[in-house]
Amino acid sequence: MTLTALIALHALGGCGQKAEVVAPPKAKAPSRISAADLKKFKPNESGAIMVLMYHRISAQEPDNDLNRKPDSFRRDLEMLRARGYHPVTVSELVENKMDVPIGKTPVAITFDDALPTQFHLKPGADGAPKIDRDCAVGILEKFHSKYPDWPAKATYFVLPKEGRNSDPFGQPEYVAEKFAHLIKNGSELANHTATHSNMRAMSPDKVRWELATATRAIRAIAPTAAMQTLALPYGKMPRGEAARKALIEGQQGGTKYHNKAIFLAAWRPVLSPVTRPDKALAQGGKFCLFDPFHLERIKTDPRQAHLPGTFEYWMKYFAANPGQRYISDGSAQIVAVPAAQQSAIDAARVRAQGKTLQAYGGASNGSKAGGSLSVE
Ligand SMILES: [Zn+2]
Repeated sequence: MTLTALIALHALGGCGQKAEVVAPPKAKAPSRISAADLKKFKPNESGAIMVLMYHRISAQEPDNDLNRKPDSFRRDLEMLRARGYHPVTVSELVENKMDVPIGKTPVAITFDDALPTQFHLKPGADGAPKIDRDCAVGILEKFHSKYPDWPAKATYFVLPKEGRNSDPFGQPEYVAEKFAHLIKNGSELANHTATHSNMRAMSPDKVRWELATATRAIRAIAPTAAMQTLALPYGKMPRGEAARKALIEGQQGGTKYHNKAIFLAAWRPVLSPVTRPDKALAQGGKFCLFDPFHLERIKTDPRQAHLPGTFEYWMKYFAANPGQRYISDGSAQIVAVPAAQQSAIDAARVRAQGKTLQAYGGASNGSKAGGSLSVE
């Protein structure tokens, strides 16, 4: 809380106490995670993080790779929270600005294509538009009301009305209101190109047109839309080197764009944003190395629960291998990792982010065999 806010609170009697002289809050954060907290929570900020990919949220279709029934999505959220996960946006993940309580594991929930079942308004009892309780946003916000410690935030890789696309989320009359609502609730609007074309053989000029057009069209409706991370349509990376570079930054028609991260369609958890993109850390290819321009996501699909690539698979996997999860130390300043994982950390990146590395425990830090990242 800022000093001004504290004063305002006291002036309002918001603390239910007599006004007293309050010392200006010190910006100084704890310089170490305490031994008791290390023992209790076993933070591991070198671990793996799931970025979940959803499309439709509809009761009209069975659960498959492109649809999740509303009740199934509610169950996903319940299971995530019960198992100690905590939502972050994709930008928070890639910029390592994740506000996650100590002991919890970040998870990024993402939605592609701005489909109508993700955000639907309908007339309430008083005739005013209300959020449909069965659309993705309705489910996330009800979940937040039930558990205030779980923010309703997610990342929406949206499409503008361009080419064959219809209006984002359908309902042209409410597009601006919906975008504004998402930004206000802490969600992120992100780039999914303008026309959702396969970019495999695309020229650099066409790539620039796609990304700048999407940025321009979405910002014309929501001027503060972040539009700084990108999900590739069908997960297809352009073949050409120049076109790949154009994914990261460029300009066209007077609109500049800059993507801090690029996501494919599938299929592994990504390693912590402070780990080195060193193949030795990927556990034989089990996890996606942290290369911000080549990150992966995980789909939900009960038909493929046995295959690495699905939410169903990874939830089981991390329940059996908790030492491989990213576990927050609760501090924005510190990167706490078990000593055995210290070599996975990119120390220069930690310093550049103004954070301090805190390795703890001996080489064998108490995690179960096979349950921790190690370097050969
Ligand atoms: Zn898509």
